[in-house]
Amino acid sequence: MQLDAEGWVVDPKVTKSPFPNLKHGTMAAIHGIIVHQTGSPSRDATFNSYRGAAPNGAHFLIDKNGDVYQTASVTWKLWHVGKLRPRCLVQHSCPATEMKLITGWRVAQVHEVERQKAFPDRFPMNDDSIGIEIVSDNIIEPKGTTFEPMTPEQNAALDWMIAGLKALLRFPAIEIYRHPDVSFKNVHEAETATWH
Ligand SMILES: [Zn+2]
Repeated sequence: MQLDAEGWVVDPKVTKSPFPNLKHGTMAAIHGIIVHQTGSPSRDATFNSYRGAAPNGAHFLIDKNGDVYQTASVTWKLWHVGKLRPRCLVQHSCPATEMKLITGWRVAQVHEVERQKAFPDRFPMNDDSIGIEIVSDNIIEPKGTTFEPMTPEQNAALDWMIAGLKALLRFPAIEIYRHPDVSFKNVHEAETATWH
């Protein structure tokens, strides 16, 4: 796996499929990878959403059969993370003023405080992370909405992508998360994703 000067992976296993509408600025640094599931049934359903105005989306998409598409350059800042969870909660180091916001679940205000912090005092966010989407539909269950489990081919491709990106980008600190670990999302998203 190699990376060209414009931030596109050069590898026979990765199909370059640019969706320019995904770009919402330039990524200044890369500190992490966020793993997502699309919550929609097919590659094309996601591609269609990427053609819309100012869409959310990720840099890579892994189809059910394990095929990998690069939908955005890794130099593009995208909208894929959403409102950040406070990292200080994990480390039990939140100041009292922040704890008040968190206790009230004022998600937008928590995010405003969080996004001002420098990495790694906060989780990676849109400004400094690569997103990988996995094609998996939602399943509506009595207990709530979950996701189709990832296929073995998808997990093999994810593992390969993460290993390749880690080697390629030489992260100073390698941080890889499932989406709900860093943001206020369905806790089941990417729960069946595995990597080394
Ligand atoms: Zn997600």
